[in-house]
Amino acid sequence: MPQLHFQNRFASLGETFFAQVRPSALSQAYFVAHSESAAQLLGLEGSDWSAAEFANIFNGNQVHATSLSLAAVYSGHQFGVWAGQLGDGRALLLGDLAQANGQEMLEVQLKGSGSTPFSRMGDGRAVLRSSIREFLCSEAMAALGIPTSRALCLYGSDQYVMREQPEKTAILTRLAPSFIRFGSFEHWYYSGQIEPLKSLADFLIAHYFPDCSVSSNPYQALLKIIIERTADLFAHWQAVGFMHGVLNTDNMSVLGITLDYGPFGFMEAYDPQHICNHSDTAGRYSFENQPEIGHWNCHALAQALMPLLDDVESTQAILAIYPERFEASYRKLLQAKFGLQRVESGDEKRFAEFFELMHLGQADYSFSFRQLAKISRTNAAQDHHISDWFINREQVNAWLDQYRQRLQREHLGDTERAAGMNKVNPKFILRNYLAQQAIEKAEQKDFSEITRLLKVLASPFDEQEEFEQYAALPPDWAQQIAVSCSS
Ligand code: AMP
Ligand code: MG
Repeated sequence: MPQLHFQNRFASLGETFFAQVRPSALSQAYFVAHSESAAQLLGLEGSDWSAAEFANIFNGNQVHATSLSLAAVYSGHQFGVWAGQLGDGRALLLGDLAQANGQEMLEVQLKGSGSTPFSRMGDGRAVLRSSIREFLCSEAMAALGIPTSRALCLYGSDQYVMREQPEKTAILTRLAPSFIRFGSFEHWYYSGQIEPLKSLADFLIAHYFPDCSVSSNPYQALLKIIIERTADLFAHWQAVGFMHGVLNTDNMSVLGITLDYGPFGFMEAYDPQHICNHSDTAGRYSFENQPEIGHWNCHALAQALMPLLDDVESTQAILAIYPERFEASYRKLLQAKFGLQRVESGDEKRFAEFFELMHLGQADYSFSFRQLAKISRTNAAQDHHISDWFINREQVNAWLDQYRQRLQREHLGDTERAAGMNKVNPKFILRNYLAQQAIEKAEQKDFSEITRLLKVLASPFDEQEEFEQYAALPPDWAQQIAVSCSS
């Protein structure tokens, strides 16, 4: 049994930042799944996750002797409106564990471990369904190379809670260098408490952004790096077709990692206006709105940091970095998605046309890029299989002719180009229907599909022919899956 030893960095901020809370255990918790690659980060590989001494820490039964379990306070803007105090209403930070490779420590958080002083009207629980979704997506995103919180292990319970219908519950253990949010800063700003605002910024600089401390204005440097990381994160999301669903400032990580998986989705039939969250009736967080929302959220953060920043003008200049940074980052990812090493002036238009063709043709986003990798730059006759996937075949063929000519101005041959494209365009993504199948089995206590899906999604770029069915496009019934904020 590996030894756990928690350190408590966040707790060192002092009690204004949190409430000390003991987890409330799930009734008769059972082990559902763990991620071996997340376990490896902490040197916990090969552990017996159902062994009581170990499971008890992660299913909320016990607090480890070295852990100071706490719920952090934060506030936030929800759907563009100031929502006031929120906080960890159903999550508890256990502390930090060292990484096996000596890199920065990781905070360990239980989600669904019972009510806290910040639960407001909520019951402090997370349902099994959305915990499985968060578990799978965290690990899928990590394998896609996208900054994200990780999922360590998942315990379930037949203790029901009421949502739109009664649902089974779970506790998910997640990992991140820090769970501090944009809303953590907004909390102090909007309550007019500048001392804790400053302490939080200093804490972040000391532990996560030490380079900022040598800048002539450390707080401006802090804002800048958070904005850059956010722009890069959103560029990754757009490139892979990920939709977060609830981009409220309380769900925005100051480290630029994907946080708080709820009604997320991956783009399937390409539609830039797609809204993955059924509760988002106005489409504020639609796919195409995401980059602009990222900027909006950065404004909210800058506003909260205003008391620490020198002047409005330099703050505006820092905020202006976001669109440039996003464009540059996104553009680079697109070049790679299309298999282009050189940059040509017509590329942007070419990309936009392909997106439009996917939209008109209702083509699957990930699948289309995977098909594009199969293009022969010299032999058009080989490529009929690609336009077959589109409704608008003639237009697609005309575009492919242009693309072929463009590829001829590249150095790489077909094989090397395809290999490069297949390293950035995933074959396997967490489609809603795949998650749904795993959930339905898990509700019957069969967790094998979670384990299988985890394995498939761990190598999203590899062919994995034995798992071909996991690359299949969504069946008709998948259209009925509604994912909302209720989790
Ligand atoms: P979310 O939309 O899940 O990011 O949650 C927004 C806020 O509501 C956070 O402060 C959560 O802690 C809180 N919250 C969500 N669900 C619950 C719940 N079932 N019990 C208590 N608090 C919750
Ligand atoms: Mg949240």
